[in-house]
Amino acid sequence: MKLHPLIEDAYRVLEGKELSRDELLALAGEIHGEDLLDLISLANKVRRKFAPQWSRCSIVNARSGRCGEDCRFCAQSGHHHSEIETYPLLEPEKVLAAARKVHAEGVRTFGYVTSGRGWLKPDGDFIKILDTMDLLHRELPDMYLCVSLGILGEECVRLLAEHHVRRYNMNLQTAPGKYGELVATSHSITEKLETIRLLKKYGIANCTGGIFGLGETWEDRIDLALAVRELDVEGSPLNILLPIPGTPLEGRPIVSPADAAKAFALFRLANPAKTLKFCAGRETVMSDFQGLLMLSGLNALMTGGYLTTRGRDVAADKRLLRQLEDF
Ligand code: SF4
Repeated sequence: MKLHPLIEDAYRVLEGKELSRDELLALAGEIHGEDLLDLISLANKVRRKFAPQWSRCSIVNARSGRCGEDCRFCAQSGHHHSEIETYPLLEPEKVLAAARKVHAEGVRTFGYVTSGRGWLKPDGDFIKILDTMDLLHRELPDMYLCVSLGILGEECVRLLAEHHVRRYNMNLQTAPGKYGELVATSHSITEKLETIRLLKKYGIANCTGGIFGLGETWEDRIDLALAVRELDVEGSPLNILLPIPGTPLEGRPIVSPADAAKAFALFRLANPAKTLKFCAGRETVMSDFQGLLMLSGLNALMTGGYLTTRGRDVAADKRLLRQLEDF
């Protein structure tokens, strides 16, 4: 049986050719049903050729809730009414204990995440964060340290680089042009892009992705994938929205597994060599389909739980990655 002509054409990606926005949009609009498995298969071939290494990372929510920002999807925003555990910044020893736990399971990438807008100056809790990075580096020198602290000023970026931070998570969440409408109004995408620029300047890698299910169109999904291509970040965490009661998105329909697979596959075709990581939504909204979705062009997963939702155990995810190597 012949491939759909749009997919046949997209095989050019395997020869190192780029697909245009129009071509990606055509695939998003035309490929459904049985053709979707052919698109997934192509995305997996592209992953095998350009990003064959599977990886996993783990995070700690180092400060939870009480956030003054109004991100519509987020249970930690003080503007919404979600029931979550809130707490101030964790003591360095507590973070170390969390890192040791996943380190013992073979995880070598650890993300430290705080709620809140960020830091324009290195004041208040920022010094404690630097102390925590020093402690983690001293006790677990082979752990690759990532942080996600929101919008940063230049001095903060410089200090993070000096204190062993190798990678920073700053998600665009959706198409940059739709940020104000679909994500938040209390800060702008411009501030986020400026932080990414500063991180690059100081040699910190960027982990920059987004969420599917916010109410975005296929155009927005393609524009997010192309923004990531344009920024040339190291990789992208990709999340499927789990609508959380108390947030403005609590009533949003959940993205179907077929649409999630198509979004991931197109993200891979737009970004052949990047680390694309399945984060929130994997075990919850996509549970029965997580294996298929991992094979839709992804090459990494987050393990051991998320910011405000639980994950499954780290050993089970390790087993999954081993089994995926056969494909
Ligand atoms: S995503 Fe971050 S900045 Fe936005 S509301 Fe949640 S904790 Fe605050």
